[in-house]
Amino acid sequence: MKLHEYQSKSVFAKYGVPIPKGRVAGIASEAKQIAEELGGRVVVKAQVLVGGRGKAGGIRLAKSPQEAEELTTHILAMNIKGMKVRKVLIDEAVTIVKEIYLGITNDRTRHCPVMMGSSEGGMEIEEVARKNPEKILKVAIDPLLGLRDYQARDLAVSMDLPKEYWKMFITIANGLWRAYQENDATLAEINPLVITADNRLLALDGKMVIDDNALYRHSDLSEARDQDEETPGEVEARKYGLSFIKLDGEIGCMVNGAGLAMATMDLIKFYGGSPANFLDIGGGAAAEKVASGLRIILSDPNVKAVLINIFGGITRGDEVARGILSAHQEAKSKVPMIVRLVGTNAEEGLRLLTNANFVMADTLVDAAQKAIAAAREGTK
Ligand code: GDP
Ligand code: MN
Repeated sequence: MKLHEYQSKSVFAKYGVPIPKGRVAGIASEAKQIAEELGGRVVVKAQVLVGGRGKAGGIRLAKSPQEAEELTTHILAMNIKGMKVRKVLIDEAVTIVKEIYLGITNDRTRHCPVMMGSSEGGMEIEEVARKNPEKILKVAIDPLLGLRDYQARDLAVSMDLPKEYWKMFITIANGLWRAYQENDATLAEINPLVITADNRLLALDGKMVIDDNALYRHSDLSEARDQDEETPGEVEARKYGLSFIKLDGEIGCMVNGAGLAMATMDLIKFYGGSPANFLDIGGGAAAEKVASGLRIILSDPNVKAVLINIFGGITRGDEVARGILSAHQEAKSKVPMIVRLVGTNAEEGLRLLTNANFVMADTLVDAAQKAIAAAREGTK
């Protein structure tokens, strides 16, 4: 789960990372009032979960509360990379002397978190990685020992940070590490971390991604989830504990188990089709959960055929069949349904489905080919 800039920065601040004074606003008059409180000169920042807001015009400097109000009206009407802006952050404006980058993520090749620093702050780190990879400095963090002061100092030295900022930098690096670790983040990033004209280090931008599998340990953060940034299908799927990812193909897939779901999608691709989604109903799903999965799939207008691939172990074929039938009848869908159902209670499940006019398949290959043929027929 991605956190908005204002959410990330408030987490960072709890760990001693200095951030500009500021508050979030949903309407222009509120922005004006915040700007007045902050002394007039402010930055108005669109809160959307995409990078490069600055370039897209979503970050503007206002010299007066009046201007902050006007810019807020303008920015709240914007769409940035397909995301509607619903909130703006009003931050005190600071004069920047230098922008640097500081971030932590998991390094899968080193098998541990890695802190990255770069003197090339302000632009996207992926761009620095492409153009000047030698400008990104990395230190591996032992998760048991945590970030050591000497490691942060090494980064400061390698980035040519003037000596008078080292102490502050080490405090910030440590704060960022603790924010990362204690919140089960997979990314914590300050870009830019700036040196201001009045000789402070400040986190001007903030980004955090929290591991979804650890959200149950962070109820305060999971409540902050921004449902506007997800497709309705994804919101619905979470409610029922289904793993669902929307894709842009035309064959809806309902499968039990992530590995089987991947294999199913691979086979659809192999035979020339394209999956409309990844959906794992998990093990032992009851009829209601199966039905909600199918409802989500059928609500996607791109879906021209549905492939149901169930290999029952703790999942029972009869439960799956009941779920499919109830969602299918309710949706009054004409979309062809291809079913491959084997394993626990498969006979009972297949018997329940006999009158439903579904296409039955014996093997996964058979099912994939039938689904592709049905989808082609449907798009003619
Ligand atoms: P991003 O484009 O989505 O990464 O948004 P950022 O929050 O990183 O802002 C982009 C750029 O706007 C920064 O790199 C700064 O150059 C500039 N910026 C942001 N806040 C301020 C500010 O308070 N004062 C000044 N002068 N520039 C700012
Ligand atoms: Mn940024």
